[in-house]
Amino acid sequence: MTFDDFGLNADLMKAINEAGYSEPTPIQAQAIPKALADRDVLGIAQTGTGKTASFTLPMIERLSKGRAKARMPRSLILEPTRELAAQVADNFEKYGKYHKLSMALLIGGVSFGDQDKKIDRGVDVLIATPGRLLDHVERGKLMLTGVQTLVIDEADRMLDMGFIPDIERICKLIPFTRQTMLFSATMPPEIENLANNFMQAPARIEV
Ligand code: AMP
Repeated sequence: MTFDDFGLNADLMKAINEAGYSEPTPIQAQAIPKALADRDVLGIAQTGTGKTASFTLPMIERLSKGRAKARMPRSLILEPTRELAAQVADNFEKYGKYHKLSMALLIGGVSFGDQDKKIDRGVDVLIATPGRLLDHVERGKLMLTGVQTLVIDEADRMLDMGFIPDIERICKLIPFTRQTMLFSATMPPEIENLANNFMQAPARIEV
């Protein structure tokens, strides 16, 4: 399997080539075709397996085809920590460098001002920690009704940090017609429940 087999757009292929990737990792080979076919994806994979690209590349492909409604965010990636959110944002910028997409990183520990400005200008993609995302929603700054793709990354760490109630609240703010991708290194019962309640017939991929 090569990256050419996925049928990704030329701008995305250019970014992948520049990243120096010669072939997809096992999680990418399995998850990317499912995600491109609009399936929900449940990926059981550790960090370091290339899982970030396995949700980011199909997300960018989908964003490049669709159009924003009044610049409402169309994609949301949830991360348990600020550091992971920032890392995924770096990856998103690397893979999306030839697409005119705007992204906001919504993490705690920094003032609301710059994040508010970004949201007001209109963003395609949100990369967020659950608490700060809900802060923006509660302040009336952010609507999630335009989100078409939701990624819940590092779900088992979210569980360890007590974020599952926040994740459930966020899931309920997004139309059920969305695509949901969930990644976790392990699958404790609480995460199985989350997947059962908030995903639709996910393709289960284990690497
Ligand atoms: P991740 O598991 O998403 O944190 O990725 C781990 C590392 O693998 C990151 O530094 C990526 O840039 C790199 N990576 C992702 N996909 C590939 C690939 N197909 N070939 C080589 N390196 C990759």
